[in-house]
Order: sequence, then structure tokens, then C-alpha cells
Amino acid sequence: MTKLLLIVAFTIGIVLWFKRTSRREPPRGQRAAEDMVRCEVCRVNLPRSEAILSRGHIYCCDEHRLRGH
Ligand SMILES: [Zn+2]
Repeated sequence: MTKLLLIVAFTIGIVLWFKRTSRREPPRGQRAAEDMVRCEVCRVNLPRSEAILSRGHIYCCDEHRLRGH
């Protein structure tokens, strides 16, 4: 039983250490802060700046925009 607790504590320690070291990894670029939108045809998520907006509808590419109408 004590052994199990030790393993659990060890695992938590590793997880916390991992979180701390990986925190600085994702670059705080505009991409992360950017709004994500979803194509109405294929349901793929993409940043708003890359999406095609047409009459209040959102599409990932021109082909899907034409298909959505
Ligand atoms: Zn699409």
C-alpha cells in the first residue's frame, strides 16, 4: 500500500514537472489568441483570418463556400 502511494506521488511529481517545463513551449503568437471558427460544410476548425465569410456563413475554402449555398 505504501508502495502504491509512493508511485502515485512520483507520477504526480512528474506530471507537475512536465507541465512546468512545457508551459513556455507554446509560442504566444497571434495564432493562439485568434478566434477559431468552423467551416459549415466539413466542420473543420480554422482561424478566423483564414476562413471565408459569406453572408454570415463561414467556410474553410472557396469550394465549400460554393457548396454551402
Ligand atoms: Zn470546409
